[in-house]
Amino acid sequence: MSDLSRRGFLVGSAAATWATTAAAQPLPTAVINKPDPLLDGDELPTFRFALEKSEGKVVAGNSAREATVKQLPISKGIAGVSMRLEPGGIRELHWHATAAEWAYVVEGRCRTTVIDPAGRAETNDFEPGDIWYFPRGHGHSIQCLGKKPCHFVLVFDNGYFSEFGTFSVTDWLGHAPPRLLVKNLGLPEKEFEAFPKEEVYFARGPIAPEAIQPEHRQALDVAPETHKFRMLSEKPHSLQRGGREWRVGQDRFPISKTITGVILELNPGGLRELHWHPNADEWQYVLSGRVRVTMFGSHGRWREETLETGDVGYIPTGYGHSVENASDEKPARVLIAFNTGHYQAIDLSVWLAGNPDYLLAANFGRPESVIAKLPRRRVFIADKDGPSS
Ligand code: MN
Ligand code: MN
Repeated sequence: MSDLSRRGFLVGSAAATWATTAAAQPLPTAVINKPDPLLDGDELPTFRFALEKSEGKVVAGNSAREATVKQLPISKGIAGVSMRLEPGGIRELHWHATAAEWAYVVEGRCRTTVIDPAGRAETNDFEPGDIWYFPRGHGHSIQCLGKKPCHFVLVFDNGYFSEFGTFSVTDWLGHAPPRLLVKNLGLPEKEFEAFPKEEVYFARGPIAPEAIQPEHRQALDVAPETHKFRMLSEKPHSLQRGGREWRVGQDRFPISKTITGVILELNPGGLRELHWHPNADEWQYVLSGRVRVTMFGSHGRWREETLETGDVGYIPTGYGHSVENASDEKPARVLIAFNTGHYQAIDLSVWLAGNPDYLLAANFGRPESVIAKLPRRRVFIADKDGPSS
């Protein structure tokens, strides 16, 4: 069988990134104690939602479309939002009481400002391929930069989260008695009468300055852990004939304690091999192309769904699955997020290779001569023609 270098499996510092640094993390008690009734039936439920075809919220060109347990009941561990801002568009100051926020910038440029409980703020500018992470409850805002619209995909580590039920600054101040605001912020009461009375959600202003100047009076006591990581500016951790993958978790992006982000690129016919994740749910968003995703749920239950560009998929913790480029001509790119900072996976090829031939022969009832032809190394991404060159 081929060795690692012949496979083209390890590139650069890839060997180091394969070693999962997972500290023992307890599973959610729901996973251990109580089977999800939705996953307990004779058939597996759908794990696909056509996010970009959904209605969402559209205000003056700015838009937000969300996938939560409401739209995709299986997705209890992770929710996602596809958001677009027009030039000058602002997703207003807000926080999320029930989830941390991770994001991948698909198109255009944007700027975020986030505050932490120690009063330290950070402002970052983002381009396509960059990611951010805001811990649960930390206040933040997002603004489109430049003259072109921007598009980003938000991921939340709680499927019951709703972007449309977050805590917005205008909603709060618009309902607080002016007496409180006068005492708190020092403006005369009539000034507050002109403030918005309902949640603004998307605000609109002039195009933001490229650089924040002293006259903008931002009190910046810089946060010690940055909220920004340039994921696609790094080398992929895995590069193979069938495709490549970038992966960023807490080991390289320390603030990202509850999300690991992945960009998986599959060449025509390429296959991310059969595997499962012992410690996390998987949320998928197809950035380009079409993929066939399979899910295995024990008791002979098997489901395959085709995800088009803009569709979301979801695989619960521990469920077997694979992702295959459905096209023989075009590449496919999938954004994948896990609700853990420490990625873990068990790939089929590695599992089998970790067992002695005689055992596999007996298990499958096949001669050892057949078993000897199985890969003895991690396949990870198979080419359209198979695992080896
Ligand atoms: Mn947010
Ligand atoms: Mn997976």
